[in-house]
Amino acid sequence: MRVGVEAALVDGILLHGDIEVVDKRVTAVGLAGPGSGLAVPGFVDLQVNGFGGVDFLDADAAGYRKAGEALLETGVTAYLPTLITSPEERIVHAMREVPLGMARPRILGMHLEGPFLSPARLGTHEASARRDPDVDLLERLLDAGPVRMMTLAPELPGADALIDVLVARGVTVALGHSDATAAHANAAFDRGARTVTHLFNAMRPFLHRDPGLIGAALAREDVLVSIILDGIHLAPETAIVAWRAAAGRLALVTDAITAAGVADGSYSLGNIDVEVHDGTVRGPDGVLAGSVLTMAEAVQNLHALGASIEDAVGAATTTPARVLGDPELGRIGIGLPADIVVLDDRLEVERVLVGGDVRVAI
Ligand code: ZN
Repeated sequence: MRVGVEAALVDGILLHGDIEVVDKRVTAVGLAGPGSGLAVPGFVDLQVNGFGGVDFLDADAAGYRKAGEALLETGVTAYLPTLITSPEERIVHAMREVPLGMARPRILGMHLEGPFLSPARLGTHEASARRDPDVDLLERLLDAGPVRMMTLAPELPGADALIDVLVARGVTVALGHSDATAAHANAAFDRGARTVTHLFNAMRPFLHRDPGLIGAALAREDVLVSIILDGIHLAPETAIVAWRAAAGRLALVTDAITAAGVADGSYSLGNIDVEVHDGTVRGPDGVLAGSVLTMAEAVQNLHALGASIEDAVGAATTTPARVLGDPELGRIGIGLPADIVVLDDRLEVERVLVGGDVRVAI
């Protein structure tokens, strides 16, 4: 099957010509022939709390299908359903409902954001469900479901032991919701933490003699960072500074909640009531509580800040794949699974293929 595009982003390089897909995989690129639009790898979102009216803390198989259809329309072909700080029973129950295997978009595993977070940097996470590091609790959570990534605060006493368990079990360690100094952060990175969750938001601020987690992460070439580029969570100047300091190692995430892909109004994020108004999500205390951003919009926003199309798409594809350590993910290449998004010249999603099947034509 020909995809029917004018050009494609193949292993990070814009290549004129069409793509051929046989048996769910890309078999040829740069083919002459008629076509329109730009094929890029399907977007990979590392942080999705809910979507299309569905909260993953409460979702059953039908909920995952509904959220999945809405995510596909935004170009996401693989993601990590994300569970915020919640009581153990609730997290365990939520993970039992996760459909793996044939789910579309692909579910790469869960992202547990908490419960081992700083009491000083919780944002809207529920304080009563926050926990100090507890290896037994961590082991129970890891045994309850397919955890692929965990966000924790490395400065908490006992966090080192959590990092060791997560690294040993192949779970990506992300630092976030944290009051860590640069020394704490560097020690955690040296121990195996690989990335930072929504850089700048819910962490010790960057100061010139107290650079904290933000400064430590931006200064290290071996650390990947994620940002929520919705025009609300970060000032544009902050986003540009992060992009320049972490070019090639900055991942876009949406941190989307239930309300993403549906209308403004009142929703819940776990046990927290949130209000969505003009694209901004706030909890009862007025604190930002996730987003209604889509990955396609995040890519458009990064391009609008000056990133090339190749780099803006890379931040939604290859970089999040590096966070997960998956070399096949987030790429178009010969022999790789045909997870492809076709964009028009405004970077709007036109068509989406997962495993070579056209899943959404918009
Ligand atoms: Zn968060």
